[in-house]
Amino acid sequence: MLPLVALVGRPNVGKSTLFNALTRSRDALVADQPGVTRDRQYGICRLLDQPFFVIDTGGLTDESEGLAGLTSAQSRLAVQESDVVALVVDARDGLLASDLSILQEIRRANKRMLLLVNKTDGLDIDTSMAEFASLGIAEMFAVAASHQRGLHPVLEAIGKYLPEVEPGQSEAEIDPGRMRLAVVGRPNVGKSTLVNRLLGEDRVIVSEVAGTTRDPIAVDLDRDGKRYRLIDTAGIRRRARVEEAVEKFSVLKTLQSIESAEVVICMLDAREGVTDQDATVLGQVLESGRGLVIALNKWDGLDAYQREQCKADVQRKLAFVEYAQVLTLSAKHGSGLAELFRAIHRTHASSTRQFSTSELTRALEAAYEALQPPVVRGHVAKLRYAHPGGSNPPTVVIHGSRVSTLPQSYKRYLENFFRRRFKLVGTPLRLEFRVGD
Ligand code: GDP
Ligand code: GDP
Repeated sequence: MLPLVALVGRPNVGKSTLFNALTRSRDALVADQPGVTRDRQYGICRLLDQPFFVIDTGGLTDESEGLAGLTSAQSRLAVQESDVVALVVDARDGLLASDLSILQEIRRANKRMLLLVNKTDGLDIDTSMAEFASLGIAEMFAVAASHQRGLHPVLEAIGKYLPEVEPGQSEAEIDPGRMRLAVVGRPNVGKSTLVNRLLGEDRVIVSEVAGTTRDPIAVDLDRDGKRYRLIDTAGIRRRARVEEAVEKFSVLKTLQSIESAEVVICMLDAREGVTDQDATVLGQVLESGRGLVIALNKWDGLDAYQREQCKADVQRKLAFVEYAQVLTLSAKHGSGLAELFRAIHRTHASSTRQFSTSELTRALEAAYEALQPPVVRGHVAKLRYAHPGGSNPPTVVIHGSRVSTLPQSYKRYLENFFRRRFKLVGTPLRLEFRVGD
């Protein structure tokens, strides 16, 4: 379970600007995909070693005139559930009565709190901070969200407050033999039908692992001698009759499910083709780096023409996840399940593949020999050696000189080269570049 940080404050203080700065994607690639809109309220900040959820309660607050404070049940719940609350105020407006009423509510919830005094760009910081010092909040920070200034100390403070994820406590370590699967997709694509079909089969042994509002719940599944844990899907939820405390939180649960899975099965409704909402969920999976299998469900109802249309739609709109296997399914009739599980296993093998330094370095040399980076200002980047930097997604750390001059196109070439050489399927490959040896 990732820790949760809530951004709270009255309208227009800069919460969503801050949210964007904190959750901006490490891969510009993800954000720039047409059709992929990023959720503007729920996101993951990956700027610290320990990722955490960020909720912008702005969108959750009833911001109609005259209503200050955490007016909606949702933003109250967000505050209650969070590990750290960041109260955002506007240095240009100074301290207002509505800031105080929000502060009172946070105090009532008894949460770790940071005060972010925003829009300090072009202002005298000492003067700005003095006005807010009267609030008696120990941790005050002057920031300028739109200039991405002052965020580093804020991140450090957040990092200090986040609950430690102790090694040995993650699900993987509790039961390393169980592959963690998440079934995601927009409503009505057939997630519950698939899960129920899997759980309904005779050879399946089911045990439910309960969760809380924020935690995903999970069901263990044994199938064909292999062990799985299905994480939080609509299907499990309905089966376990767990009530959605607040519907909005289901976005967070999807993100959490993706994050805690090893392989994500993203279901689409083949009758409707690829919608923007599908692309958005897939963008989240790509950003997480988890293994991905795309299942076009309800294949049973389609004629040959519609099938062609659907496949063309996938090719056109889902090029950004072209590493994933795409298969067709009828959850209702149970066809395509064997292929689905084959794809899951291939994906899992790729995303958890262990590399040695020598095989990576040999691959790097071969790639470099076949195609050298372009000359930039009279110099060519040299790539010396590569070593593994983690799995799920497999990460390759490349050392060399002038690596900052490598164009995006060359990085993509390297990624594809590694992917082909090691026959990786269903997983992104992350490259990190370091200067020197
Ligand atoms: P929210 O309603 O709290 O989410 O506020 P927004 O993030 O939408 O920001 C409200 C306005 O303040 C926008 O016009 C932003 O461009 C502007 N803004 C946000 N952060 C800063 C900042 O650090 N400095 C300045 N000068 N303007 C900012
Ligand atoms: P969820 O919201 O993603 O969990 O979707 P459900 O599993 O509740 O399914 C939504 C609707 O689609 C239900 O009426 C299902 O019977 C139907 N459905 C699910 N899978 C299939 C399928 O493979 N073929 C057809 N024709 N209908 C399906």
